[in-house]
Amino acid sequence: MINLFRARNPELRRCSKIGHALHLPSDDVQLAKALSPYPALIQCLRCQDFVNTQLPPPQPLSTFPLIPTGSHGRRHSLIRILAIERIARGIILFAVAGLTLKLSTSSNPVISYLGRLADNSKALASQLGVNSILHQVIVKLQLILHRSPSSYRWLAFFLTVYGLIELLEGLGLWFSKRWAEYLTVVATSLFVPLEIYEIFHHATITKISALIVNIIAIGYLLWKGRLFGLRGGHEKLKEEEYQSTYLFQLLQNSTATSPK
Ligand SMILES: [Zn+2]
Repeated sequence: MINLFRARNPELRRCSKIGHALHLPSDDVQLAKALSPYPALIQCLRCQDFVNTQLPPPQPLSTFPLIPTGSHGRRHSLIRILAIERIARGIILFAVAGLTLKLSTSSNPVISYLGRLADNSKALASQLGVNSILHQVIVKLQLILHRSPSSYRWLAFFLTVYGLIELLEGLGLWFSKRWAEYLTVVATSLFVPLEIYEIFHHATITKISALIVNIIAIGYLLWKGRLFGLRGGHEKLKEEEYQSTYLFQLLQNSTATSPK
């Protein structure tokens, strides 16, 4: 039974969304016994609940997924949220690029279209809770571009490339790729000077909060993810993540050999 205390357990909440992490070792009798003390009963490696179910097929201990808990588990959840935000931004950019391309062949007064496009992107961005950088980019380009159709094709090309970068970031983050964290930190940092310039030019609460959120995100990814060799780098992160898993605790409590 899930009582109130356990319901607040973030690991249990995650299990309720994506299912329990049930694994049985084929090469460690002692651990197998600890995880499944009775037939049809097995302990989850994430929330530590005992589940009454059909046992999964045994697999070598070295193939067990490492499921970080505590602050390392939270880091993975936050990266997933960031991934969704980046994928949403990528899709919006593709949509705007498509509209912009349409403008290059449109017989209507294109400048009023782009004006509306800028307003819509701002409304859409605020609705989705993403920052208004897309809007700022459109407005800036709207100002500096000529009104010729080729200008709009260049704008569409630029937006597509930007959208691809955002989509790549999002997918990489979703699949926990290390390079995606580097890409996110570098790509987000590149926009910080523009955001600061925008604030000096015309400060709004949205712009200031977007800047603060981005700086916190960069700092968090750098510090907690130990990017660029910070605080021992990737090796240290892997070690700490492994030590935060319930599997590590179980292996520590037994004389079993640890996976790789
Ligand atoms: Zn579970």
